[in-house]
Amino acid sequence: MPTAPENLLIGAHTSAAGGAYKALLEGVSIGATTIQLFTANQRRWASSPIPQKDLDLWHKTLSETGLKKIMSHSSFLINLGSPDLEALVKSRKTMREEVERCLALKLTYLNFHPGAALSEDPQGCLDRIAESLLELEPLLVGRDLRLLLETTAGQGSCQGYRFEQIAYIISKVEKKIPIGVCIDTCHIFVAGYDIRNANAYNATLNEFDKVIGLKHLYAFHVNDSLKGLGTRVDRHAPLGEGLIGMDAFRFMMTDPRTRDLPMYLETPGGTEQWKKEIPLLRSFASQNV
Ligand SMILES: [Zn+2]
Ligand SMILES: [Zn+2]
Repeated sequence: MPTAPENLLIGAHTSAAGGAYKALLEGVSIGATTIQLFTANQRRWASSPIPQKDLDLWHKTLSETGLKKIMSHSSFLINLGSPDLEALVKSRKTMREEVERCLALKLTYLNFHPGAALSEDPQGCLDRIAESLLELEPLLVGRDLRLLLETTAGQGSCQGYRFEQIAYIISKVEKKIPIGVCIDTCHIFVAGYDIRNANAYNATLNEFDKVIGLKHLYAFHVNDSLKGLGTRVDRHAPLGEGLIGMDAFRFMMTDPRTRDLPMYLETPGGTEQWKKEIPLLRSFASQNV
């Protein structure tokens, strides 16, 4: 039996300003059944563990709201594939702290951008990313947290815009740590994977399955794109107002391979926008295409 549309996990990246639990409350206020949040200031290196009273408030609010499969988006400063040793050491430390916060909050997923090669060779970057992830093994063993590689737009030297790059990292770490993929619809589109019509959508999912394997797909970042196919420029747009168009989101919510996965909106416009987009996605899930 397919999941009833009202039970599908659809939400957005909500604000943790004033405390992580506030992100849960904002989720409820927009009709979400899941959320993504930053567990620390994503533009600062320094962070401290979450105080016990904040953890207590989080767990109380989490059970009261009933939100599920909460995802953290890791700091933008982290580059697990950095060729610069100092930056790499800092990144690995910050990633460890991210994992520790996610474990304390009992989150389901930690989504992160794989890393950037800067002026160095991309293959070395992919290998460093895998090594960085393997260092996390002792923290993750026996725990329920899964790390999700986010498909990227491929801006600058960022890796993870080709399914082959994601597959390579997974092949190096999958036996040691819980790993998976979060597809960002805007990112794959500007990276060159078309999803605008049924044939293109199918071809892209088939390609994902062939190269990475659909069993590794755990979640979606749901965004339209201001920039065109293959431009490798990351600019999110509200659903149906960008160059991807609404059909792709209809396919996503009706295709049995994707409809039941958790969906996190990162569209511009904030809560007012998400209040419209969440029921829209649910309404697609109740249609048969
Ligand atoms: Zn994203
Ligand atoms: Zn993006």
